[in-house]
Order: sequence, then C-alpha cells, then structure tokens
Amino acid sequence: MDKSDCIFCNIVNGKTDTEFLFENENVAVFKDINPHAPVHILIVPRRHIRSINDITDADGAIVFELIATGKAVAKQMGVNESGYKLLFNVEKGGGQMIFHLHLHLLAGWKR
Ligand code: AMP
Ligand code: ZN
Repeated sequence: MDKSDCIFCNIVNGKTDTEFLFENENVAVFKDINPHAPVHILIVPRRHIRSINDITDADGAIVFELIATGKAVAKQMGVNESGYKLLFNVEKGGGQMIFHLHLHLLAGWKR
C-alpha cells in the first residue's frame, strides 16, 4: 500500500527530488535531511509499514533486508570498521516522527 500523504512513500516512489545512495525493488537509501551524526542515512522499505509494532512473521525478509542494506551502506560509506549504530525509533515515545518504517544508520564520530 502506498499512501500519497506519506512523505516516505513519496520519496521511495521517486515523487520527490531526493537522491538515493542505493535502491532496489524493495528498499531505498537516502541521507537524513537533519543529520544527528556525521553520517546519518535512512534505509526505507518501498512498501508502507507504519512501525516495528506492525511487522509480522511475513515481514521477516524485508526487515532482514533493511539490516543487511544498513551493513552494506556502512561499508560503502567507509564506516564499517570504525563502527556505526542501526536504530529503529518505534512510535511517538520512541522518537518516531515519520510513520513509515525506516532504519537509521548513524556513524562517523571521532572516538
Ligand atoms: P524518526 O524520528 O525515526 O521518525 O526519523 C525520521 C527522520 O526523517 C528524521 O531524522 C528526519 O530528519 C528525517 N527526514 C524527515 N523528512 C525528510 C526528508 N524529506 N528527507 C530526508 N530525511 C527526512
Ligand atoms: Zn509510507
């Protein structure tokens, strides 16, 4: 299901000028517009899922693909060895502001 009022549906369906660092039929990857780390990238499924609270066993493959894509993008960005965080914010109390599932890749601190 694509929701025309969902900003991430619009982005992953190519309806904005957001540049993708990587994309395939299942996921799109782009820079966070308001970075909270030197490297802050979002890995987003093309299919609209509200949050981690809404995943089911049938979503196992896409959740794995988000994580595996995060690992690959970390390597592409050269932060795989220095290290990184992969983060899902879940619902309002968990800091989620956009209710289309996405995995944050955060990295690049000097430590
Ligand atoms: P969350 O708080 O987990 O829902 O994360 C949403 C993230 O999306 C925030 O870090 C925002 O800075 C980011 N964001 C919002 N709009 C855009 C956009 N148009 N392009 C890229 N990132 C965005
Ligand atoms: Zn959406």
